[in-house]
Amino acid sequence: MNLHEYQGKEILASYGVTVQRGRIANTADEAVAAAKQLTEETGTGWHIIKAQVHAGGRGKGGGVKLAKNLEEVKEIAGSIIGMDLVTPQTTAAGKRVHMVLVAEDVYGPGESEIQEFYMSVLLDRAQSRNMIMYSTEGGMDIETVAEETPHLIFTETIDPAHGLQAFQARRIAFNLGLSGKAFKEMTKFVFALYEAYVKSDSALFEINPVLKASDDRIIAVDCKITMDENALYRHADIQAMRDTREESPIEVEAKAVGLNYVDLDGNVGCMVNGAGLAMATMDLIKQAGGEPANFLDVGGTADAKRVEEAFRIILKDPAVEAILVNIFGGIVRCDRVAQGIVDAYKNMGDAIKVPIIVRLQGTNAEIAKELIDTSGLNVQSAVEFQEAADMVQAVIAKNK
Ligand code: GDP
Ligand code: MN
Repeated sequence: MNLHEYQGKEILASYGVTVQRGRIANTADEAVAAAKQLTEETGTGWHIIKAQVHAGGRGKGGGVKLAKNLEEVKEIAGSIIGMDLVTPQTTAAGKRVHMVLVAEDVYGPGESEIQEFYMSVLLDRAQSRNMIMYSTEGGMDIETVAEETPHLIFTETIDPAHGLQAFQARRIAFNLGLSGKAFKEMTKFVFALYEAYVKSDSALFEINPVLKASDDRIIAVDCKITMDENALYRHADIQAMRDTREESPIEVEAKAVGLNYVDLDGNVGCMVNGAGLAMATMDLIKQAGGEPANFLDVGGTADAKRVEEAFRIILKDPAVEAILVNIFGGIVRCDRVAQGIVDAYKNMGDAIKVPIIVRLQGTNAEIAKELIDTSGLNVQSAVEFQEAADMVQAVIAKNK
C-alpha cells in the first residue's frame, strides 16, 4: 500500500523528522485558505502547490508549481486539481488529481547555498538487513543516477542487533559533504527517519529531495512511503490512510471479496489456486503467445460462489479474450471445483462471452473433466498443462 506525500510527511513529523510544512486542499478556495494559514504558522510568503497522487515525477509533469501570491495559489491550485497528471511514472492517460498540498517554500536564499540530496530506507533482501541509501544527487530520479553516476550512491547497512549507530549517521553526513550545523542536523535527521521507518513497519521510505536549506536546516521536501501490507494490522492509523481512488478499481473490489488479484496488461484472464501455480500459469500463457490479464489466486476454497466472484472480477477487464482456469486439486477435490465452475457459469447466464479453458489436475481430475465435457457449456477442459496451453494458443490465434 502506498501513501500520499502529505500522509508520509505526517508520519515523519510524528517521529521528529523536519518536514516542509503544508496543508491539504480539495478546491482552489481551500488552497487559498490553506496558504493564509500557512503564512501565519511559518511566515512563508511563497507557496509550492503539489498534486497529491500515487506517482513520482510530478514536478516534470507540471504537478508541482511555485505560487508567489494568493492569486497564483488560487490559479495554480485550480488548474492542478481535476487535471489528469501525466508523469514518467504514470500511463499516458495520467492520474486524476483530487487534491493538492499547499506547502511552505523552503528554497529561499540565505546564508549558505541550498543543496538537494536523495535518501531512502529499505530492506536489503540480499543481506536481510535494513539499509539507508543516499546520494549527493537529489531531485533527480535515482534510477538515472544509478545508471550514469553509480559512484555517487552510498549505502549504510544496519545491524538489527545494534540498530543504527552514531558513527553511521556521521558517515552519511560526511559523505554528503556537510559540516557545522548542517552536519549535526543531518545526523539527527537520519536517526529520526530510521526510527520512523522501523516503528511504522514500512517497506520503503524515499525522501527525494532531502533539502539542506539556506539556514542549514535539513528538511524532507518530498516523501514516498510504501507500507508492508502484512504489518498493516498493527497500524490502524496508517491503514485509515488508504486512498482507494489511487488504486485499480478492480483490485479494490477483489480485495473486498477476499480474492488475491493483481491487474495486468494482457488478454488472457487466469483463475488459479495457489500463488506459485498462478506464477507458473502466467508463464504458460506467455509461452502460448498470450499475455496474462491478471494474477488471481482464489485460495483453497474454489466453490461455486468463489468461482463466480472470480469470473465476475476477471470479466470486468475489457481486454480479456479468454479465461484459463488452472486448479490443482490437493485438499480441494477437482470434481467439486468443476461443479463450482458449471454452477457459476449457469448462474451468470450470458455474462460470460469469452471462451473458458479449464485445466483440473489432482484428486478426481477425470471425473471433473467428464463433468465439464457433458455440461453443454462453452468450456473446454484439459488435464495436462500442455493441452491447456494449446487451447489458449488456438483461441488467441483465432482472434488475431
Ligand atoms: P516529484 O517531482 O513528484 O518527485 O515531487 P517533489 O516533491 O520532489 O517536487 C519536485 C521538485 O519541486 C523538487 O525537486 C524541487 O526542485 C521543487 N520544489 C519542491 N519544494 C519546493 C519549494 O519549496 N520551493 C521551490 N522553489 N521548489 C520546490
Ligand atoms: Mn520527489
